[in-house]
Amino acid sequence: MPKNMHSLIILILIAGCLASCLMLVSCNKKTIQEPAASSDSKPESYYTSYKQGFSAARFLETPYGTYFSSRDGYLYYSEKGNTKFIKLCNKPDCNHNSIDCNAYIKWYKIGYYDKKIYYITGNTLNCMDMDGSNHRNIKALYEGYDNNFGYFHNGYYYYVITKGGSIGAFGNEDNNLYRVKVDDDSTPEIVLTNDAILRLYMFTIVGDNIYIIEFNTDATKVASLYSFSTISKNWTMLTDNWAGAGAYYIDDNKGYCYMRNIGFYEYDLTTNEMNLVKPTELDDIGTCSAFYYPDYIYLIHYSSDPPSYLNQILYIYDRDYNLIDSIKFDKVYGKSTSGGFIGDVDKYVIFSSNYNEQPDYYIDKSEIGTGNLMFHKIEDW
Ligand SMILES: [Zn+2]
Repeated sequence: MPKNMHSLIILILIAGCLASCLMLVSCNKKTIQEPAASSDSKPESYYTSYKQGFSAARFLETPYGTYFSSRDGYLYYSEKGNTKFIKLCNKPDCNHNSIDCNAYIKWYKIGYYDKKIYYITGNTLNCMDMDGSNHRNIKALYEGYDNNFGYFHNGYYYYVITKGGSIGAFGNEDNNLYRVKVDDDSTPEIVLTNDAILRLYMFTIVGDNIYIIEFNTDATKVASLYSFSTISKNWTMLTDNWAGAGAYYIDDNKGYCYMRNIGFYEYDLTTNEMNLVKPTELDDIGTCSAFYYPDYIYLIHYSSDPPSYLNQILYIYDRDYNLIDSIKFDKVYGKSTSGGFIGDVDKYVIFSSNYNEQPDYYIDKSEIGTGNLMFHKIEDW
């Protein structure tokens, strides 16, 4: 190769590298100070309330864009659901690859309220600005080093203290559900005290009611569902045959759940009747998650036993339980990798091939039911 040509190639390589480095810096330097102007903007309460997703409080839809707390410990930001997710850091000279990076938050739970991102580290509530800067410690929730489980909802962090390490674990001693206001210096308050908290599967807050799902001691059933009114303090058992976390949803009038290989149930909260409204029989029992969104119900079927992220099919139903479309998510590589559904944002459904990293695939909802449904790669645009 002529010497000049050789130098030219090296120059091009260097230029390319510099350009990509600059691009990375300029992306992360984006100032996130104003809510995005969008025809899809929703009331503030939509963004501050808890939503179903692949894991409690790891994926946030906000007026400023979407945020994702990945298992590799970083907080990622995307202007829209289907634009590239970048680490949320605008520190100069940061390589975004160390614990000093503003985006490094150790896979903590995140919540949005009044122009700030809140997150919990150990027993402490913290917040940051929407662009990832100005991290600060707000208050301690309790003394000691026990874990807690909870999520952010309408300006509060709701939580249980799990001495045993996680919810439902042997060794849990505290049977209270607490909440703490995120944006003042008030102390935590007890919302509910009941031994069902010791065997908690999940809790849901709807208006003045709290719904508690407890691991069922009867092994032939999944879980028990209770309601608690924060006004009348009434504690009521609704059913002892309810689905677990990731397969149910409750609104003002009804509870909805999916029972493995039986079908979709609805629980009428006014008449206390529970009915099988759509029987389903999948080829292989496996396990399922069911996510209920305003437009669609997403049923994800992990068909192998034990369930594997390598074998997952997304079934899309309308809210009348008509099956509209289905597609295999075959982007997860390797048995030790977990990945899949993340959430539904505006016109898109977001997926990740690896929960350790940023979301990287999306479905365009306008393609559902057209025969052209596919997973698109999230590109930098
Ligand atoms: Zn950084």
